Amino acid sequence: MIDQNRNQGRKVIVIGAGLVGTLEAGCLARRGYEVHLYEYRGDIRKMDHVPGRSINLAMSIRGLAGLRLVGLEDKILREHGIPMRARMIHNTDGTTRAIPYNKDGKSIYSVGRRFVNEELLTRAESFPNVHFHFNHKLISANLDKGTATFLNTITQEEVHEEAELLIGCDGAYSNLRKQMMKRSQFDYSQQYIPHGYLELCIPATTNGEFAMPPNYLHIWPRGKFMMIALPNQDRTWTVSLFMPFEIYDEINTPELLLEFFKANYPDAIDMIGRERLIRDFFANKPFAMITVKCSPYHVGSTSLLMGDAAHAIVPFYGQGMNCGMEDCVVLNEIMDQYNDDLTQVLPAYSKHRNPDAEAIADLAMYNYIEMRDLVNSKLFLMRKKVDDFLCFWFPNTWIPLYTMVTFSRERYHLCISKKKWQDEILRKLLKVGGIAGIGMGMLFAKTEAAHALSCALIARLTNFTSKTLALTVR
Ligand SMILES: Cc1cc2nc3c(=O)[nH]c(=O)nc-3n(C[C@H](O)[C@H](O)[C@H](O)COP(=O)(O)OP(=O)(O)OC[C@H]3O[C@@H](n4cnc5c(N)ncnc54)[C@H](O)[C@@H]3O)c2cc1C
Repeated sequence: MIDQNRNQGRKVIVIGAGLVGTLEAGCLARRGYEVHLYEYRGDIRKMDHVPGRSINLAMSIRGLAGLRLVGLEDKILREHGIPMRARMIHNTDGTTRAIPYNKDGKSIYSVGRRFVNEELLTRAESFPNVHFHFNHKLISANLDKGTATFLNTITQEEVHEEAELLIGCDGAYSNLRKQMMKRSQFDYSQQYIPHGYLELCIPATTNGEFAMPPNYLHIWPRGKFMMIALPNQDRTWTVSLFMPFEIYDEINTPELLLEFFKANYPDAIDMIGRERLIRDFFANKPFAMITVKCSPYHVGSTSLLMGDAAHAIVPFYGQGMNCGMEDCVVLNEIMDQYNDDLTQVLPAYSKHRNPDAEAIADLAMYNYIEMRDLVNSKLFLMRKKVDDFLCFWFPNTWIPLYTMVTFSRERYHLCISKKKWQDEILRKLLKVGGIAGIGMGMLFAKTEAAHALSCALIARLTNFTSKTLALTVR
């Protein structure tokens, strides 16, 4: 139970009304703070077209935990989320095959960025202690004093504000972070990948249906590049093409584009439609993708970075928003723990969150390769079978990496150490010939006796005593 009285009159400025800033505004309002939300753009709820990136996003358990804090989890899932139960791999010959995300049939959800952002704004607005300031761009800040200067982009006036706490949720190119970078003992690194992304659209069919089976995240992995598609509520698909900038440059005529698609994504041409493909491809420029790592996320008890402002990651694990929303959950937990004493909350938050944010940044980079390449590799598929098999027998101990990241709130850095532990076990297994046991198990996996037999073999070969098992169960 939160003691809202404790925080009454305590002013917080949140900069950026994107997915994380609006959620954090709601979370702080619940705790009784006086929240002022400043946003560069206008109110997106009043716009015909919202410029920007990725129309839809994959939402999973960490994002949902954030939405739950402000009572929006059910609404967004029920009214809007389209479950995606598996990857659907498209081969160059037009054939497809599904690879489920996990054995239990759990789903991730395709949600519209604009819809989620608008719902979060409306939820934040429902608190009397949240105040919106649209068309205000942060231009400078004094991080120690908690003062900030905004430019009113309509009147061109400068507005000076002061608060007990400034929270920068102003995205990957955060201005608040730029202020932190001027200080000593602030670590910062950024990395662009050589790939850019460009969004295309597969329209609904003439009879208003989805052009592809809807409950999948469709992937066209092609090694050096790839394409993915997520379903939308209006039965269209948002298609994202990821490839090196130099290939975009080489495709400079409609003929070359069609040739490229015929060679790599033949089944997509008719679904997108030739004319639309040519129009959309040449009308848009590919966007760059960046990883940002920095530390610490706070200055004293007066300034804090959250979401992409603290940790922008490449989109290949579908975790950027999820991680940012989980930031809000973690901050809320730490505020509970320290009774909203910001002198303790902010350092504790930085210390707790940094290893996890850096871990998911690394995992997203790893998935950058896995998605465009490894899902096609026999080794990857074999490893997936081994993981599924061991997970079936040791459900609390052997949780595949993707499941830990996407379907649990296991701390990201622990997901990596557990995966390393699993790799070590498998290496040992291979060494002592245990693969034979696994192979047997998989060959005859349909019968329980064979499962038991192969399992016993694995257990013996790896000294899987109940003692070691107990040690690794969380
Ligand atoms: C192609 C692509 C696909 C993605 N897919 C997924 C996915 O499937 N799942 C997932 O979890 N994540 C995904 N992400 C990541 C996700 O989009 C981000 O992690 C998420 O948007 C971060 O939210 P945020 O609120 O921190 O930042 P943003 O959404 O960038 O919001 C920042 C806000 O701050 C405002 N702002 C910026 N500068 C200022 C300023 N100076 N003053 C005032 N306001 C300012 C901006 O206008 C904006 O409203 C994807 C990203 C990309 C690029």
